[in-house]
Amino acid sequence: MSAGWLRACALVMLGLFSVSALAKDKTVIVVGGGLSGLTAAYELQNKGWQVTLLEAKPTLGGRSGMATSEWIGNDKTQPVLNKYVSTFKLTTTPAPEFVRTPSYLIDGEYFTAADLATKQPATAEALKRYEKTLDDLARSIEDPQNPAANSTLFALDQINVSNWLDRLNLPATARQLVNQQIRTRYDEPSRLSLLYFAQQSRVYRGVADRDLRASRLPGGSPVLAQAFVKQLKTIKTSSPVSSITQDKDGVTVKVGSVGYQADYVVLAVPLRALNKIQMTPALDAQHLGAIKGTNYGWRDQIMLKFKTPVWESKARMSGEIYSNTGLGMLWVEPALKGGANVVINLSGDNARVMQAFGDKQMVDQVLIRLHAFYPQARGSFTGYEIRRYSTDPSMGGAYLAFGPGQISKYWRLWERPLQRVAFAGEHTDALYPGTLEGALRTGQRAASQVEDLAAGKSFEPAKVVPAATAAAAGAVAAKKGNFFTNLFGGSDDKPEPAKAPVPAAPVAPAPAPVPAPTPAPAPVEAPKPAAPVKAEPARKVPVKAPVKKPAAKTESKKAPVKATVKKTEPVKKPAVNTAAKTPATTETKTQ
Ligand SMILES: Cc1cc2nc3c(=O)[nH]c(=O)nc-3n(C[C@H](O)[C@H](O)[C@H](O)COP(=O)(O)OP(=O)(O)OC[C@H]3O[C@@H](n4cnc5c(N)ncnc54)[C@H](O)[C@@H]3O)c2cc1C
Repeated sequence: MSAGWLRACALVMLGLFSVSALAKDKTVIVVGGGLSGLTAAYELQNKGWQVTLLEAKPTLGGRSGMATSEWIGNDKTQPVLNKYVSTFKLTTTPAPEFVRTPSYLIDGEYFTAADLATKQPATAEALKRYEKTLDDLARSIEDPQNPAANSTLFALDQINVSNWLDRLNLPATARQLVNQQIRTRYDEPSRLSLLYFAQQSRVYRGVADRDLRASRLPGGSPVLAQAFVKQLKTIKTSSPVSSITQDKDGVTVKVGSVGYQADYVVLAVPLRALNKIQMTPALDAQHLGAIKGTNYGWRDQIMLKFKTPVWESKARMSGEIYSNTGLGMLWVEPALKGGANVVINLSGDNARVMQAFGDKQMVDQVLIRLHAFYPQARGSFTGYEIRRYSTDPSMGGAYLAFGPGQISKYWRLWERPLQRVAFAGEHTDALYPGTLEGALRTGQRAASQVEDLAAGKSFEPAKVVPAATAAAAGAVAAKKGNFFTNLFGGSDDKPEPAKAPVPAAPVAPAPAPVPAPTPAPAPVEAPKPAAPVKAEPARKVPVKAPVKKPAAKTESKKAPVKATVKKTEPVKKPAVNTAAKTPATTETKTQ
């Protein structure tokens, strides 16, 4: 072998050694084991980083929740989700045709969209009118990444959705159904920024319902979370992070008295949970304001289990069903072990009111309402599961739903890293917040930002639009009419002036809980729609299209992933080790 050849081999070896030495030096801590944190950890580990994932709860998967067979979109609508489904070779089954478009439960009677057009044409027509007006609104946004592009659009952020709906004068039933759809997907219309609603409608404009519910993922999103978990080397569950300190050399993350050091952190926890983590240096006023002030939708889920379907038949009541009563949005679940399940989504102010009830009382309230429509319900009832996302301190709500004035203040705030901390989580995605797709996208984004930071890239500090100036500009634009007058039906109506979020009209209190089972349903006063509505004379134009579904968040969730990993015991490391980076003693998972 020639000397030159030996030298070349030596250089190659040296190169390999340097790369692996370099790789060992790259350490990152991911805080939060929901789908965004799991994605960031997975992507960074694949790029050679030493990753430690810290999760507050004993289980992983975060808000991925309750459904045992979750509906997911196709790769046209949810490309990132589908990419991981195929990377991890997860099985999906095509969704049956009849569950792919929403249907309605009006005073206990089930209607497909086609039924509605023939049997309740006034309601169907009103829904169509609403849909058309919403589409016009969505079209006014050119770039959903920059929804407040001009002062007129900016002004929409000062209006709540309920005020806008009032102007449509929908008949009572249509308004109830629209309210229910909006509060299920986002939050109570009165708590929602019209600009946010328009922006989300723009994102999903032209996306068919059937593409958003193209297949089922047996086992639901926890199966996806578990697939990530299997790939990760170092996970510590039952490790709630209490503080993060950054300096010029790195970060120290504390779980109680235990400290971890690393080069960078991905912070993948919801805003209410972030509020409990002490940051040094402290966050600026804008970030603190966003943590405290950003609205989250409320949505709790109850799965009721029955011996047999108590509704008409499996085929007649299935898929995503919007009720016009206090039942919320229903979801008929395939029961894997026999029987029949229905997931009830209580959302918006109906869910807020229910916080006063314990789990059992809450289930009773729902059962009473169901029993009023389906008299076999109580006799066939076998049990329930419940998930209360809104009162869980590590979540503090179902998902981001910007309230009036909040886009103007906090738009894309969390997309920018702060020194050594990159942020992930559904709330940090501009296009698909409140979805699995959004959570996965932000995990990828945060991972690539950590790489950029390591490569010396700096990120622009957040630019704050002076709200007063912009709001004033919005008011001037509004006075000119045109856009707003068209928006509100071509009348001379003036736009709503900028105002603080309007509290929703109180929901009629549910009756006192009744112990189950009882032979006959107690009389129930259903919660009223959030705002008073004016009845409109029925129109006779039949319509085919149901209300367009703008978001993929309509599925129910499954039990959180049980950490099947050896590495997930709570950490017992006693003290901050300022010499080591990622703790050397982290338990390494074996699969
Ligand atoms: C009722 C409901 C229904 C939904 N339906 C759908 C649907 O049908 N389709 C869809 O696409 N999306 C749906 N979603 C949205 C989707 O589930 C979420 O967008 C996604 O799971 C959020 O993931 P995440 O990683 O951003 O946050 P999370 O899942 O909340 O993860 C954050 C993690 O951080 C942990 N944590 C918090 N504080 C700390 C701390 N101090 N230290 C360490 N860890 C901490 C939490 O325990 C949690 O595990 C639904 C959500 C809800 C609530």
